[in-house]
Amino acid sequence: MPRLTSLRLTAALAIFAAVPLTPAAVAAPSAALKKPAAAQFAAVLTASTGKPMVHGTYTNGCIAGASQLAADSPHWQVLKPSRNRAWGHPALVRMVEDVARQVAADGHRGVLVGDLAQARGGPMPYGHNSHQTGLDADIWLTPLPERRLTPDELESFAPPSMVDLEAVTVTPAFGAAQIAMLARAARHPDVERIFVSPPIKQALCEQAGDGDRAWLRKVRPWRGHTSHMHVRIACPADSDACKDQDPVPEGDGCGPELASWLADPSWRTPGKRPYVPEKGLKLNAMPAACRKLVK
Ligand SMILES: [Zn+2]
Repeated sequence: MPRLTSLRLTAALAIFAAVPLTPAAVAAPSAALKKPAAAQFAAVLTASTGKPMVHGTYTNGCIAGASQLAADSPHWQVLKPSRNRAWGHPALVRMVEDVARQVAADGHRGVLVGDLAQARGGPMPYGHNSHQTGLDADIWLTPLPERRLTPDELESFAPPSMVDLEAVTVTPAFGAAQIAMLARAARHPDVERIFVSPPIKQALCEQAGDGDRAWLRKVRPWRGHTSHMHVRIACPADSDACKDQDPVPEGDGCGPELASWLADPSWRTPGKRPYVPEKGLKLNAMPAACRKLVK
């Protein structure tokens, strides 16, 4: 009997020896959950394997099985490729490719692509609150230049603003190419809405003509977005855990709603609460499936 007890004690001690119970080791899992999730998502450089699946909302979510948009193609180039934010749901990648090809077919060569999402989506240490589910893409309003941009230029090129914030109008740089690009993106069947600066929406309302104006409904005025359009696709049908936002209101959005943006241009000043990642989304506030993606 004493021998048995001794054996049990030895076995128990062996188990403890294999798991070092330092305070740091005990505290690690819960501490990680309370840290901002942005750094953890930014540190993962590749997509997870398996079926593409979106979890959560545009501002609190992630994506498994993301695809990567090619950095360089005849019809597009990705700006700031070092950010490693050209990942998205395959439907988003396809949409960007489709729009780029259509813009080229319209005679404007193609598009310069901004951020999509990180390899597993999630919050970013800088730049965006949304873009978390691989369903958002920024496309610059300056079309693809005639000359291919070099790797250095891709990192440094800053497309110009198309909005005169003092006059609350578009600049002379905004013209047929920009209207064609916005119309192509808005007519894409997967696109749910597009955010642009209010004067850009106004210019579209004035210049879209009397023909098909249905696409104008998807183009929504928002602060910022003076040099790029933010193109958002809807939740993929097979992503049950993806949460859509409310549908865009009926109509072309050229009436009272736009008028209210133009009458109170407080959106011209930078946001009062810029995104501060240190105070941003914590991992334990994210969907459980998202937490698993950065473990
Ligand atoms: Zn955006």
